[in-house]
Amino acid sequence: MEKLKADCLFCKIIKKEIHSSVVHEDDKTLAFKDINPQAPVHIIIVPKIHVDKISDLTEETAEFIGDMTLTANKIAKEFKIDKNGYRLVVNCEEYGGQTIYHIHVHLLGGRRMTWPPG
Ligand code: 5GP
Ligand code: ZN
Repeated sequence: MEKLKADCLFCKIIKKEIHSSVVHEDDKTLAFKDINPQAPVHIIIVPKIHVDKISDLTEETAEFIGDMTLTANKIAKEFKIDKNGYRLVVNCEEYGGQTIYHIHVHLLGGRRMTWPPG
């Protein structure tokens, strides 16, 4: 399994080759503010190992979803959006709206979300 990919934007953010506003870092995940926020709180959470998309997860890498979720829940508490609630989003491929092919969870909060999503 490749760890980080040279031409991947989020891998470059993980390596700090590209600047981002980091809000949380541990040995498994990095979380940073989305450059184009869609809510008062909009954080991107990534595993520190490159996987293109959620449909590529295997028994070996499925734990990344758990790692990202635990980080998201921690950040939600820190940003005090845990009581009112928040949304976690994973976009997959073209129809799912994925634009960056390094698996990530969006943490969105600080306003009431609508349903169904666009
Ligand atoms: P996707 O559409 O793949 O689910 O989400 C990619 C997200 O990454 C988008 O919300 C977009 O605003 C964000 N993004 C794209 N480029 C950058 C960047 O260079 N820095 C940061 N912090 N976020 C980015
Ligand atoms: Zn990557």
